[in-house]
Amino acid sequence: MDSFGRTVDYLRISVTDRCNERCLYCMPQGYKGWEQKPDHLTAEEIVQVVRVAAGMGFRKFRLTGGEPLVRRDLLDIVCAMKQVPGVDVIGLSTNGTKLGALARSLHDAGLRTVNVSLDALDAEIYHRVTGGQVADVLAGIRAAVAAGFERVKLIAVLMRGVNEHELWPLVLFAAEHGLPLRLIELMPVTSTEVLTEKNFFPVSEAMELLAQRDELIAQPSAYLGW
Ligand code: SF4
Repeated sequence: MDSFGRTVDYLRISVTDRCNERCLYCMPQGYKGWEQKPDHLTAEEIVQVVRVAAGMGFRKFRLTGGEPLVRRDLLDIVCAMKQVPGVDVIGLSTNGTKLGALARSLHDAGLRTVNVSLDALDAEIYHRVTGGQVADVLAGIRAAVAAGFERVKLIAVLMRGVNEHELWPLVLFAAEHGLPLRLIELMPVTSTEVLTEKNFFPVSEAMELLAQRDELIAQPSAYLGW
């Protein structure tokens, strides 16, 4: 329980700091850390952490990175976590680029929810933001929907002057596929080209822009959780 009496039963586990993309808001300028050998936990160590946490009352676990799917043993980790008594839900946060090939196996291994980063639908803008190919992510999202996960959620980081014109296309894409879309404001967690005040695009302004396009209806009961 936290000091507000809320039960804290959700644990995020970063399984790697490596990633196959290079997002503008993520990579510190001149970052050299990836030139060193990875020193992340082994699959067995991660499962041991899960076992201890589940014993303390944690029930929901989310695997994050870096990009978790660059780990070749991620499927094994999910399979082993699923066997741990007390583990109710396993989720994944991913950039989606490798999801196309893995969604079905991850689902069958026991993964229940997937959050996919999608900052733009336009191929050039997506590439500028992440260095990757949006076609790979869209294939990943389609594969995740087809695999039948309990929930596939889209996550977009708002950046003024970078992807603000992608907001409405992203909303339409989410609506067309029946997927929730979470909008995130830039957070000054590191030092990169776009992490400046002039690139800050508040969610309140995004909502105003959306309200000019269509009616927004508040749904207090629609909290989508972790
Ligand atoms: S996909 Fe995620 S971990 Fe990879 S560079 Fe982008 S924000 Fe960072």
